[in-house]
Amino acid sequence: MQNGIMIQFFHWYSRDNGTLWSYLSQEAPKLAELGVTAAWLPPAYKGSDGTNSRGYDVYDIYDLGEFDQKGTVRTRYGTKQEYIDCIKALQDNGITAIADIVLNHMGGADETEKIWVKKVDPEHRNEIVSDAFEIEAFTKFTFPGRKGQYSNFIWDARCFTGVDYDNASKETAIYKIQNEYGEGWDEVIDDEKGNFDYLMCADIEYRNEFVREELKRWGKWYLETTNFNGMRLDAIKHMSPRFINEWVDYMRSLKPDLFIVGEYWAPGDLPLLQKYLDATQGRMTLFDASLHHNLYDASNQGRDYDMSHIFDGSLVDAAPTFSVTIIDNHDTQPLQALEAPVNPWFKPLGYALILLREKGYPCIFYPDLYGTSYTDKGKDGNDYEIILPKCEELEALLLLRKNFAYGAQRDYIDHKNCIGWTREGNEDERTGCAVILSNGDDGNKHMEIGKRFAGKTFVDFLKGSPEEITIDENGWAEFLVKGGKVAVWVQKQIRMD
Ligand code: CA
Repeated sequence: MQNGIMIQFFHWYSRDNGTLWSYLSQEAPKLAELGVTAAWLPPAYKGSDGTNSRGYDVYDIYDLGEFDQKGTVRTRYGTKQEYIDCIKALQDNGITAIADIVLNHMGGADETEKIWVKKVDPEHRNEIVSDAFEIEAFTKFTFPGRKGQYSNFIWDARCFTGVDYDNASKETAIYKIQNEYGEGWDEVIDDEKGNFDYLMCADIEYRNEFVREELKRWGKWYLETTNFNGMRLDAIKHMSPRFINEWVDYMRSLKPDLFIVGEYWAPGDLPLLQKYLDATQGRMTLFDASLHHNLYDASNQGRDYDMSHIFDGSLVDAAPTFSVTIIDNHDTQPLQALEAPVNPWFKPLGYALILLREKGYPCIFYPDLYGTSYTDKGKDGNDYEIILPKCEELEALLLLRKNFAYGAQRDYIDHKNCIGWTREGNEDERTGCAVILSNGDDGNKHMEIGKRFAGKTFVDFLKGSPEEITIDENGWAEFLVKGGKVAVWVQKQIRMD
């Protein structure tokens, strides 16, 4: 879709009052108005911690807020019916629904089992540091609250590669389960920690064909039940691409136009993202963790960051059709494990960089559009109150993407502190824009926007610069920007319906 925009319509601290699905249904018309074409919804199934779960600690993938399990029928975000209604409301407004799919691990088992394990070195997972011994592990999932509805599959230790807790000794460690599928972990593409198959809780064993079959059965059920349009695949760094490919191909056999974006979090490590794209052979796009890494650095270094290198090593530069560009997400926000929030002053610049250029599929982050605040413990154990102000320029930047940012692009990414580019516009003569941003002093840049605009007057759509600029007879002009800001120049007195 031309100039599509995704929104991650939640963050780690989205409230647990069960209203997210209905709230998103309500907001759908406004989002469509702003040009949003896809909404990424948080995991919809019951987590191990009931309404407190964000959904990434999966308990029962068939419980979308329908069964009395983990102390609640609804999830943190609402009921199954509200979820289905939300997807419908989005689609009625021309917005596709992206379901968050968490298939690496499960938590909150119903029963323990006595199983044989070997302990591994947490930093070198291929190094076994104990003989085989017996532990009492939380690996049996019977879902007594669901009573076999939709599926009577019972998960047990044969369905998992490892666990991190022995209920007998109360000891926490990484225990490789001794099963028939191999001495070691399942294959993943990277060698971080030796092998990073194991992430958390009871980590799923995809070499077990019954597990693979059950997840295909579930995928079909989930798609038919909720009618989502796309999937965001969680934690794929910790899963075998062999399984992912098999499962994605199966899901696409049911829905050929299924959109997929994977979360392979490897900040600043483009070769690894490319290796994953090779392993999945064009089946999915990836979040551009490399670009996020650059934006984060730029936001922290101020004028010392060389903006002419902002796209260096990014996926949007190397493999643009596979890049979903982000400014922040629920993992990078303050107080989270991968905390690396882009500093607020830089957000308008960052959003201009992902929204107004030809390449990349931008995904905006809920708090940047709405603002939010929350309190949680930091790594030092103290409580912190975090205020994430909304990015005041974001709505205007979304409208610029929707209405103006079309046509040939001319780049002027050529100065340490002041860079810019122009878009020549398409057959609609109202379109086209010139973007200029500075992480230093007030700046100006001589840029070509195209002869079709010769003699036309341009103004800053973001209203940061009060001047009017006239395009010369050759289609060039000297565009202006205030220090530390972005300016987007469009034709004066243009109305967009
Ligand atoms: Ca795994």
